[in-house]
Order: sequence, then C-alpha cells, then structure tokens
Amino acid sequence: LDPEEFRRQGHIMVDFLADYFNDIEKYPVRSQVEPGYLKKLLADSAPNQPESIEKILQNVRKDIFPGLTHWQSPNFFAYFPCISSTAGILGEMLTAGLNVVGFNWIASPAATELECIVMDWLGKLINLPKTHLFSGGGGGVIQGTTCEAMLCTIVAARDQMLDKVGRENIDKLVVYASDQTHFSFQKAVKISGIKLENFRAIPTTKATEYALCPISLSKTIQEDKKTGLLPLFLCATVGTTSTTVVDPLKPLCEIAKEYGIWVHVDAAYAGNACICPEFQHFLNGVENANSFSLNAHKWLFSILDCCCLWVKDPNSLTKALSTTPECLRNKATDSKQVVDYKDWQISLSRRFRALKLWLVLRSYGVVNLRNFIRSHVKMAKHFEELVAVDERFEIVAPRNFSMVCFRVSPLALQEKVIFVEEDQVNKFNAKVLESINSCGNIHMTHAVVGGVYMMRFAIGAPLTDYRHINMAWDVIRNHVNVLLKNLSS
Ligand code: PLP
Repeated sequence: LDPEEFRRQGHIMVDFLADYFNDIEKYPVRSQVEPGYLKKLLADSAPNQPESIEKILQNVRKDIFPGLTHWQSPNFFAYFPCISSTAGILGEMLTAGLNVVGFNWIASPAATELECIVMDWLGKLINLPKTHLFSGGGGGVIQGTTCEAMLCTIVAARDQMLDKVGRENIDKLVVYASDQTHFSFQKAVKISGIKLENFRAIPTTKATEYALCPISLSKTIQEDKKTGLLPLFLCATVGTTSTTVVDPLKPLCEIAKEYGIWVHVDAAYAGNACICPEFQHFLNGVENANSFSLNAHKWLFSILDCCCLWVKDPNSLTKALSTTPECLRNKATDSKQVVDYKDWQISLSRRFRALKLWLVLRSYGVVNLRNFIRSHVKMAKHFEELVAVDERFEIVAPRNFSMVCFRVSPLALQEKVIFVEEDQVNKFNAKVLESINSCGNIHMTHAVVGGVYMMRFAIGAPLTDYRHINMAWDVIRNHVNVLLKNLSS
C-alpha cells in the first residue's frame, strides 16, 4: 500500500462517483441486460499483469453500468429505499481504510465503544425504552441484515427455553408471525433448527388492514398449548414489506408476555421514521418486546449494511452465541467490564460499521435527518393525491410512511371490457408494471395482498424531488393510456 498512490487513485475514484451521481438520471433505472451478459464481455481469467485504475473504471462504465439497477437514481421507487449519502459513503471509506477487525474489545477498543455509544444515541432518538439501551441494562449491536438479527434472537430465545425444558424438546418449539411478516424470518427459523411445521404464519385480513390480530395470535397459541407444544417466539412488524402496515405491538406483546414468549419487533424500514416524534406512537408497547431491529441502511442514509439490533437482556444473546477460544483470551474479557461483539452475532470477524452511522448522525444532525424523512413522507402524500384524483386508479392500502400502494382500478377496465374479474385486473396491473419497468424511466415493484396485485411506489432515494414524482406519474399514466387503448382494439 503506497500512500501517495492511494491518494492519487482515491481522488480518481471520488471523481468517478461524483460524475456517476451527476449523470445518474441518464441510465435506465432497472437494468435492461439479459442473463449471462457479463461473461460475454469480460476475459476468461484474471490478468497476469497489473492494469491501471483508469482502464478498470472505463470497464466499469462500459460493462458494469449496463448491468446495474440504479438504486440511488431519483427515479428509483422499487422495494424499499437503500439510501446513500455523502456521510455514509465517507464513513464506509473510513471503515475500509482503517480496516480494523473488532471481534472483541481488545482487538480494537474504539470500534466496540463507538458502536455501544451510537447504538444508545440511535435508540434514544427513536425513543426506545431505556431497558433496551446500554445505559439501562440492555444494549445494541450493528449487524449486517435483519435476517441475521432475527436468527440471533431466535437462537437466544431457543437456548433460553431449552435450558429450562431440556434440549430434547426442540421439536416442540413454536414460532409465530403473520402472513405479512418478511420471508427472511422463515429463513432464520429454518437455520435455527426449529421445525418448519411449527412455524405459524397467522393469516391476516382486510378487516385489520393486514395487521396481525391479537385475538388470532391468542387462539393459535392456545391451540398449540393444548397439543403440548411450547410457544417460543413472536416476530411482530412495524412497517410490513408489502404495504407498510404496523402490527399492534401493545396487545401482541401483552399476550406474548402472558405465555413467556420472546417478542422480536422487525422495523426494518419504518423504524427509521421513528426518529421523528410524530411516528413514535407506532412503537407503543415495545417496552415489552425482548428485541427490536431496524435497517439504518434502508432509510437512515447509512449504506448497506447497517442493521441495528437492540436487546433487553444481552446475556441471553451472549449465552447462546459466545465462544472463547484460548487464542482470544485477554484481561479485558476476563474482567467482564467490556462488550465483546463477537458474542452478539453469527460471525467472529466484524467491520467497524459504527463509524458510518456516527458520521451520518454527526454530519446531518437530528434536525436534518428528521427533515429528510419528513420530505419523503410529504412527497408520498403528494403522489397519493395525484393517484386519488384520477378515477382510473385507486389506492389499495393505507399509507403510513413514504410508500403508496395503488393500482389501475377495475372501473378503468370496465369501460373497455364487459365482465371484469379480479384476476383480469391483477394481470392488467402486472402488465402495466412490466411495461413501465422495461422502459427504464422509473422503477417500481409490486406486492400481492389479499389476492390484490398492487404497485408499490416507495420514495426515499437521495436525489428524488417533486419533479421526479410528477414525471413518474406522467410515465405511469402514459403506459396505462397505451395499454387501456390496446385493450379495446
Ligand atoms: N423485514 C422487513 C420489514 C423488510 O422490509 C425487509 C427487507 O426489505 C427485511 C425484513 C429483510 O431485511 P434484510 O435484507 O436486512 O434481511
């Protein structure tokens, strides 16, 4: 590593990325390449001789860019946002440059201590109860993804229970979620060794706007208890992936408490909005949850990956996940005065992720972070109003945050087709979405809830402004006009 050469190439790289952000609207938002496109463009084997950064970046522009879906494009409205920011990118750069491996405190004390501090900062900001913070006996850790956070907490709950009832009873453990819970929960359950037959995805209905109904949870638990099963874990969601519905934490946590069930709250996207006091009511009841996580890389400018997990009882986590081989023994660990984060996660080695979150919180300050979130929510309201005044469209789920779920309504089709069935409406909307995504001007994704196919318009890319929302609405209407016209001809 030659510091002067690093300086030279680093400047080139920063210029390259700054140009990328300047030009980002020129690229089709969703990649338009066919599978296997890259193999045809690149050499069969690694080069023997060194190549210059200039040449490599030329290849990035020519060969890699076409295969990118541009998540930071202001015309990206798909999935949930995964927002870049200057502070986040620079934080990542600092992490990569320092490249410390803070598996335990002694391996890099600042990496651990900063993480403890920023996790308390962020926890306070979203108004988590003190019991979940280091300052109140709990604590937080930065993991890669929500799926990892779910796995770690299930394993902690599993071991806590099996210590009481005996390891041989693992097949009796039952976990609960709703049919709207993110599928990564099922993956975590699968890895944890809990029987998949004991995974209850409790059906939700339109009556509760697809939130998990406490009565349904209670009935399901009682049925399981009657057959001798052991209720273990509930995953509740604040802001589901399909429609951003919020499960009622208070009654759900109360029921869980009655049966000694561990509650994890997955607030991957919407938890970030809780830095604004007006959204904090969605967390009412969280004081009775055992763990809570959000993805700061989704809507808090912190660059993938930055999943923040808080637990009320860190001992339950470390009991399940700790290993202390002789080679890692040290005075600090033995003193029990320090956090060794290797015992709070799946892997041993870990990146200094706290830096980027620290940079984001410091560089923007709470005031600006709240303003960003609020501006996205305001733009979503604006889009919702545009949809609402065009009678050919309908909003199909209540908007809680910065995502609008809508579709072309059956009424629009009735003008062209005599008998309109739900399946036809779904197929038409799917055609609209594919047509829009194929043109590359904007990108949205879909969900199917209660048999209804809906388009999701999720706002949060860092450069999105009202101009892009209005343009997106024009694109959507133009595609619908053409497809409706084709329907009649
Ligand atoms: N939970 C919710 C509510 C999500 O929306 C998502 C992803 O969008 C996840 C979990 C999965 O997150 P991860 O990819 O971090 O595991």
